[in-house]
Order: sequence, then structure tokens, then C-alpha cells
Amino acid sequence: MQNLTQDQIRRSFINASRSEVKAINFPAGFETTDWENLDYLGWRDPKMPQRGYLIYPGQDGPVGLFLRAPEGGSGKLRKVLCDLCRDVRCEVVVYLYVARRTGPAGRNGNTVGTLICADFHCSRNVRFEVPSKAEHLDWPSIRQRQIDGLRERTELFISRVRG
Ligand SMILES: [Zn+2]
Repeated sequence: MQNLTQDQIRRSFINASRSEVKAINFPAGFETTDWENLDYLGWRDPKMPQRGYLIYPGQDGPVGLFLRAPEGGSGKLRKVLCDLCRDVRCEVVVYLYVARRTGPAGRNGNTVGTLICADFHCSRNVRFEVPSKAEHLDWPSIRQRQIDGLRERTELFISRVRG
């Protein structure tokens, strides 16, 4: 995805209040973000770990989602798949992240949830290394399919938030 400034990110949120946007803390090392290898930018707030943020490069500009991890989410290893990357090779910690819906639905307390890698490493997961025993397979297209799938499912989740 293209580089974004912190200002662009703050302006991109579709389901956060002004005070929630104001309170956002960016991750350490934000300046060295590897944008080129990201399908979305996601991070947990370093000071409020119950809050997560996911910024997706939509057709009409970046779309930011304000997410909540479950109360007391201790990050126990669970054998569930992330709904976005569906990474099956490594055991990653997956949280049920909840997003307030936009518009009147959100004001009435309506939310949608989805399972996402706790530390938002989906982009890294779909760009896995080629297993040495399977070098004969067409990895560039396999990897591209994974990347496309991650983007499609992220867009689907955003459309559910927009309801
Ligand atoms: Zn994931």
C-alpha cells in the first residue's frame, strides 16, 4: 500500500469518535513501516492494548477501522484461523476484534466482529517463504492468490462495518 502520514490515518476512520481518534497512539517505529509489503496497516495501541486500528487502502482513499479486542484478552493461543489471512501454517494468536458500525446502527450500539491476528501480521503471513520441499510449485501465483484473498476479505469486513 502507499505511504500514509499520521494525519491521513487520523482522518481515515469511519467508525471512531473524535475523542477516540485524538487518543490514538502510533506504534514505535512507525517511520520505518514497510508499506510496500502491507495490504493493510494494523496495530494495537501501545498504551491501550484493548484498542486496535486497521487502515485499508480503499479505492477512494484510506479507510480506517477502530477495533476493540475482548476485555481481558490475554492472547491465549487458540486453534482458530484469522478471518482475514486464513493463515494455516503457523499458530498465531487470534482475537475476536469488534468494530462499531457506522451511522445510526453504530449509534444504537450495533457492532460486527471478526477474528484477526492479534498483532495484525496478516500481510506478513500471506507472504510466507517457499517451503523447500515444494519448490516445483508456482509460488508467485500461490502467493498472489493469498494476497488477493486477504484484500477481498478485508474489504468484505469493511463493508459489514458500513452495513
Ligand atoms: Zn491474519
